[in-house]
Amino acid sequence: MTSGQSARRREPLLAVRDLSVVFGGIVALNGVSFDMYPGQILGLIGPNGAGKTTLFNCLSRLYQPSGGDILMEGASILARPPHRIAEIGISRTFQNVALFPNLSVIDNVRVGTHSRSNGDIITDSLKLGRVRRGEAALNRKADEILGYLGLRDVAHSVAAGLPFVTQKRVELARALAAEPKILLLDEPASGLNHEEVHVLGDLIRRIRDERDITVLLVEHHMGLVMSIADHVVALNFGRKLAEGTPSQVQSDPRVIEAYLGSKDR
Ligand code: ATP
Repeated sequence: MTSGQSARRREPLLAVRDLSVVFGGIVALNGVSFDMYPGQILGLIGPNGAGKTTLFNCLSRLYQPSGGDILMEGASILARPPHRIAEIGISRTFQNVALFPNLSVIDNVRVGTHSRSNGDIITDSLKLGRVRRGEAALNRKADEILGYLGLRDVAHSVAAGLPFVTQKRVELARALAAEPKILLLDEPASGLNHEEVHVLGDLIRRIRDERDITVLLVEHHMGLVMSIADHVVALNFGRKLAEGTPSQVQSDPRVIEAYLGSKDR
């Protein structure tokens, strides 16, 4: 039995229900529904303009849908602002990398650990001893993640000076530092060479297997999606075109047609 099949017997971790987004006159998403189950790597694909980024931005709460709902463990996330989704276990990375360029790698990762801690500056200053112990735990967490991702050697380097592939990995470390249940990856393969994409694929699978994290992957790199996803949702013109295993979706005539027809878009 594949992990995708066993996952489907359980309750969805995340449920996208009849989601629509309208920008002015443009319907960017039109009644899209699908479920994500614990332990899945779900690939979200579609030609240019299909609505992938719009859906991703709804999940990370940057966009407010015009209709429908997104449920995390059965509860709507739509009233939650973007800076409060880490608290319920959703973390994201950005396609073009959004690190604090002048901070060190470890400080960037510490930012991620803080997004899951619930202290604020006033209560923290009243409980200094406890906060110091909390800080020590967060530092240990950041160090553990840097070790896990092979980044300890650059822990004290300034983020901006690092190669792009390393910056992408630091961003992944920051997202993992928040200890998410769901990791949203926005085109993680973009800007990487063939070998780097291969390494990335292994890493994403390892993160799912070893850290028990469910992954949603928006990606143009079909080789990566088809080799690591156990469930694929294909969008076109804002609608769900097909979903299933990678081989089911890859051989679906509607998906083939959408990609062939997309060359002129
Ligand atoms: P790509 O693969 O090219 O990134 P995509 O699948 O991510 O495409 P979206 O960026 O979600 O597609 O776009 C879906 C549709 O919504 C397109 O027609 C796009 O022009 C439109 N759209 C997206 N964002 C906005 C916006 N902020 N304002 C107006 N229209 C938008």
